[in-house]
Amino acid sequence: MTSRRDFIRTVPLAGAALLGGRTSLGAEAARLDPKDAQAVALGYVLDAARADKAKFASYAAGHDCGNCLQFQGKAGAAFGPCTIFSGRQVAAKGWCSAWVKKA
Ligand code: SF4
Repeated sequence: MTSRRDFIRTVPLAGAALLGGRTSLGAEAARLDPKDAQAVALGYVLDAARADKAKFASYAAGHDCGNCLQFQGKAGAAFGPCTIFSGRQVAAKGWCSAWVKKA
């Protein structure tokens, strides 16, 4: 039989375990497929140099995910999370039309 005191001790530990699990899932997030419907809509490419400049006039040389405000990857990482494409990783050398200069 579980006492109320045991229950109160156990709940925070269970919560911490769940958060820990969530963190590791984030680290293993799949890479964004450029053919994904949202990726296509925003013109995402794995190589910024291959951005569709005719369709996305906002692209300028030097813009890439690695210097975008939305990029959450570590400095020097080839791939990292992006706040626009939640749950998936984008290429540091990639680009999409949601690019915003990192402050
Ligand atoms: S929002 Fe920024 S980091 Fe995300 S895919 Fe577009 S350019 Fe890359």
